[in-house]
Amino acid sequence: MSERFDFSILGGGISGLLTAYELSQAGFSVCIVDISAVGRESSWAGGGILLPLYPWRQASSISDLAVASLALYPDLAADLLAQSHIDPEFVVSGLLLSALPDRPAALDWCRRYQIRYQLPEAPFHPALECHFDQPLWLPDIAQARNPRLLKALKTTLQQRGVIFFEHCQVHTIKHQNQHITQLLAQDKTFSPGHLVVTTGAWTSTLFAHLLPDITPPPAIKPVKGQMLLFDSQPELLPFMVLEHDRYLIPRQDGKILAGSTVEDAGFDKHTSDTARQQLYQFATAILPALKDYPVSHHWAGLRPGSDEGIPCISLHPDIDNLSINAGHFRNGLGMGPASARLLADLILDRPPLLNPEPYQLKDYQ
Ligand SMILES: Cc1cc2nc3c(=O)[nH]c(=O)nc-3n(C[C@H](O)[C@H](O)[C@H](O)COP(=O)(O)OP(=O)(O)OC[C@H]3O[C@@H](n4cnc5c(N)ncnc54)[C@H](O)[C@@H]3O)c2cc1C
Repeated sequence: MSERFDFSILGGGISGLLTAYELSQAGFSVCIVDISAVGRESSWAGGGILLPLYPWRQASSISDLAVASLALYPDLAADLLAQSHIDPEFVVSGLLLSALPDRPAALDWCRRYQIRYQLPEAPFHPALECHFDQPLWLPDIAQARNPRLLKALKTTLQQRGVIFFEHCQVHTIKHQNQHITQLLAQDKTFSPGHLVVTTGAWTSTLFAHLLPDITPPPAIKPVKGQMLLFDSQPELLPFMVLEHDRYLIPRQDGKILAGSTVEDAGFDKHTSDTARQQLYQFATAILPALKDYPVSHHWAGLRPGSDEGIPCISLHPDIDNLSINAGHFRNGLGMGPASARLLADLILDRPPLLNPEPYQLKDYQ
């Protein structure tokens, strides 16, 4: 029998869950279909810093989504906590950038986006041994505990009636006259309504295999990132620190994340001893007290790497009931709420939250 929904979302990471959050809030019936378990890929593996690393070195279209998301997060987190009773630990813990050769550009960026800043002096915190070189303190930058954010989203969506099909592999997407008509999985057939593709690092592969004859989004390729978790105590470090592209993120319970590597390794998600040593050395050099605590976890995830890190958030130019929200590279958590809101605005023909132009899929045929 064919299941019928207003919206079917392929891929249940942060991009898919937040898109479902927006569409179900607007009163539509929504399902999420994931080839694996929902919320276990890149969105689970990430750190949850809600700011791109050095955003002034990146396209302004990334900052636009990140700053708009930062404004949406407090209400989102409060709603998720109230609905699901799972705390996504959205915390405005602040971010210290210890060494910035391009600090004037950073200050221009802060002024442009109205992000409060201070120019701190060493020693900023007694436990830290950073290389202080033109540092910058951003007190309003927040984090979310992404595994909990994903759980809170899933529970909230289930309460709203969103249906989840996990471990469900769609093997055929049928389309006719510029319209998707059916999704076929092993033991199910879907009348998808409008299909939203949110399959992260797997998006280009999915288009190549299941929609080979239509315009694909710009190439999205997996970029591996490894991370360590120290089983440390609360109050060791009260804020996030970024130094030379590596960072520490303290959680509410005292555990500290150290990240991350950036590796071109295809779809391989194995961890390596080399990465473990590099991350351990970085973490214990800037916060020596971490040597007293064990590393309790070491994992890898696959970021959806896209050209310049700019995601594709777009209606499809040729197929009237297909859209895409993918390719967020290193910033899918930080850009997530505004990305999903923008796509919902486009689908539902509402005034868009942001200028959608930089994220559009164009028909080059
Ligand atoms: C180590 C690391 C650190 C990071 N740190 C941060 C950070 O601090 N801040 C930040 O903002 N971002 C960070 N990121 C990036 C962020 O995690 C990603 O940009 C974001 O998670 C992408 O979300 P997504 O939903 O697009 O993809 P994913 O979370 O990967 O979800 C894609 C989903 O699609 C499913 N899927 C795949 N193929 C199919 C198919 N054929 N059919 C159905 N479903 C399918 C997968 O099973 C998965 O559930 C980090 C990433 C890593 C790896």
